Amino acid sequence: MGPNTAEVVICGAGIAGIAAAYHLAVRRGITDIVLVDEGSPLSLTSDKSAECYRNWWPGPGDAMVAAMTRSIDLLEELARESGNVFRMNRRGYLFATADPERVPKLVWAAEEAATLGAGPVRHHDRPGSDYRPAPPDGFEAQPIGSDIITDRALIRRHFGWLADDTLALLHARRCGWLSGQQLGMYLLERARDKGVRLLPGRVTGVQTAGGCVSAVAVTGPGGSRTLSTPRFVVAAGPRLASVGRLLGVELPVFCERHAKVTFDDVLGAMPRQAPLTIWTDPVRLPWSNDERAALADSPHRRLLDALPAGVHGRPEGAGDSRSVLLIWTYEAEPVEATFPVAFDPAYVEIAIRGMARVIPAMGAYLSRLPRAFVDGGYYTKTRENRFLAGPLPVEGAYVIGALSGYGLMASSVAGELLAAHVVGAPLPPYAPAFALSRYDDPGYRTLLETWTDSGQL
Ligand SMILES: Cc1cc2nc3c(=O)[nH]c(=O)nc-3n(C[C@H](O)[C@H](O)[C@H](O)COP(=O)(O)OP(=O)(O)OC[C@H]3O[C@@H](n4cnc5c(N)ncnc54)[C@H](O)[C@@H]3O)c2cc1C
Repeated sequence: MGPNTAEVVICGAGIAGIAAAYHLAVRRGITDIVLVDEGSPLSLTSDKSAECYRNWWPGPGDAMVAAMTRSIDLLEELARESGNVFRMNRRGYLFATADPERVPKLVWAAEEAATLGAGPVRHHDRPGSDYRPAPPDGFEAQPIGSDIITDRALIRRHFGWLADDTLALLHARRCGWLSGQQLGMYLLERARDKGVRLLPGRVTGVQTAGGCVSAVAVTGPGGSRTLSTPRFVVAAGPRLASVGRLLGVELPVFCERHAKVTFDDVLGAMPRQAPLTIWTDPVRLPWSNDERAALADSPHRRLLDALPAGVHGRPEGAGDSRSVLLIWTYEAEPVEATFPVAFDPAYVEIAIRGMARVIPAMGAYLSRLPRAFVDGGYYTKTRENRFLAGPLPVEGAYVIGALSGYGLMASSVAGELLAAHVVGAPLPPYAPAFALSRYDDPGYRTLLETWTDSGQL
């Protein structure tokens, strides 16, 4: 190992690059690794997340459920060995509907998830049913699969804070949240203990010799340097495509802007023990006649239409925290990733209005909006919303990214897959579903044309 050589250079110290470094160094014994980032570790997208995880994914096929199950197994292992420093819980995802036509769809989704390996479905259609709520903390000894609750009395008993007209709930159980920052720092420290070096700077070029990676150019605070290396890993988050181009590879990814709002729920509208709560119906916001007239003449006129399903939120923080976070992606067009990220100035109000449809007590904030913090970043995605972890068409080059809105939960399996590719270890059955080479398969390209459900929240 020399200052200007490395066995592996990783571009990007977000959760993807850190998980790759951890799996290579700690679990595969490749310790001569340089992790290059032009910013602070975890600071571009990975600290903007809602920090939730789920084994709850649609098909086609079971690759996504299998990969995410493995990722959650790894997260639980890390939680156990670290004394749960990243506060992983298992509160579940609570999908709610007030639309009678959506009730059978929830049941179907639960049954599909069961056939894909997410765990059994339990039906609760009587007031005395044995539905077991999730504990607020910890993740051990909890059920998997899902609970479908269609008895209105049972819904009111356990979730009386939801809208009165809520008809059915699907409580997906191997789901919850954690501290992404603590998880990332834990992985980074373990990797650094094994010798992984962090290098501040921007990767500006990749050299090849005989078609193989030979060196990486980095420009940083101390000037420019060239690192000789036979392996280069692209883990550049929203800059995946531009860093891929340094290798002459066009990666099939695009970015969407996603925001979240955090504020102190001083009125206690959302119970502190609530699961992540997701409204599965489109929402038509209630406006007064004056508001309606003003909106009709404004760039926000689309707010008069039904807005997409999926407004969701959860309590944030332990102890005395009163913080809640809400997300509602009512616009998700592909955009150029530029920084700092600009958000809709009306986001706070719109997210709270949306959440008030789910939790009516949230409506009390609309007369005087709370002091709120909006942040977010980009989901970097493939067309079918499945991540990339594996080799690139240049010998010695690899990618880990396109982790979309699920990169914290998937980072462990993606890092493990990436490391297995690098060391030539046996690959799990789901590996081809996350390799770039999947797009070379004509059958897969045909499947893409009819692919509907990306599993995005
Ligand atoms: C609002 C929101 C909510 C989310 N909610 C969840 C959630 O609930 N659960 C979940 O699992 N995920 C969630 N995500 C997604 C998750 O945050 C991302 O998938 C994940 O952070 C992506 O990690 P990354 O390492 O690929 O990218 P980043 O974290 O963006 O890291 C990429 C790094 O590469 C560096 N880089 C880029 N180019 C160069 C270069 N040329 N030279 C040097 N360094 C470079 C950047 O500086 C950056 O640090 C959410 C995301 C958002 C925006």
